[in-house]
Amino acid sequence: MTDAPVDLREPEPTAGTGDTLIEARGLSAGYGKMAVVREIDIRVDAGEVVALIGANGAGKTTTLLTLAGELTPLEGEVRFLGEATRAPMHVRCRAGLGYVTEERSVIMDMTVSENLKLAAVPPATAFTYFPDLERIMGRKAGLCSGGEQQMLSLARALGREPKVLLADELSLGLAPIIVTNLLKAVRAAADERGIGVLLVEQHVRQALKVADRVYLMERGHIILSGTSAEIVGQLDKIEAAYLSGS
Ligand code: ATP
Repeated sequence: MTDAPVDLREPEPTAGTGDTLIEARGLSAGYGKMAVVREIDIRVDAGEVVALIGANGAGKTTTLLTLAGELTPLEGEVRFLGEATRAPMHVRCRAGLGYVTEERSVIMDMTVSENLKLAAVPPATAFTYFPDLERIMGRKAGLCSGGEQQMLSLARALGREPKVLLADELSLGLAPIIVTNLLKAVRAAADERGIGVLLVEQHVRQALKVADRVYLMERGHIILSGTSAEIVGQLDKIEAAYLSGS
């Protein structure tokens, strides 16, 4: 713990930059009847990358699963593309929600090329995000490295041109250069295609380099929010108080 407390400002959203694509309002969610996420407000606008940070067990994955429609809110609501929704995940995905996790969503028996084709992603689109995929198009995904598989997985998700991407620890266990490539692709998707991205990332410093805004979660609550520039200035204290030992 540090001597000086972290400057915990009210977690008021910063000024909106555009259309809000996905939003949690007064959202509580969890497993069975037990809320592990309580009364949270989060929003992601078009063209924004927003990082959701917090220690292990803070409730980040639960938040993403509820925004995606995999868990039903216990209280409050999820708004997607301007409307409150209780639709299941597959319906939200059809309407423009993308969801990627550390579990690479690729078919191991198929080549990289076939994986893209199955997702109806033109190779040229995939290469704009990950030029390295071009030289391994004929390789079975199961024979690719973990980093290559995750680039393919993210290319499949982004190539479908979602409006919103929820990304949960997509770089878990991968080499630093791959983490950089994945985060760059996420930033490019927001900048060039207006996709709104909510990013849970264990590499907090790297995530903050590409994020516009940040929410800090502790024990199911959002306890701090701000622009990345604001949060970076306090990151040493935040890490010591809320992220260390996680
Ligand atoms: P991590 O970084 O470790 O993935 P997190 O911030 O994503 O953590 P969650 O996975 O959302 O946190 O977990 C929040 C709380 O909910 C934890 O206390 C966890 O034990 C609990 N939890 C997670 N999944 C379940 C489940 N399927 N059933 C019951 N409780 C769960």
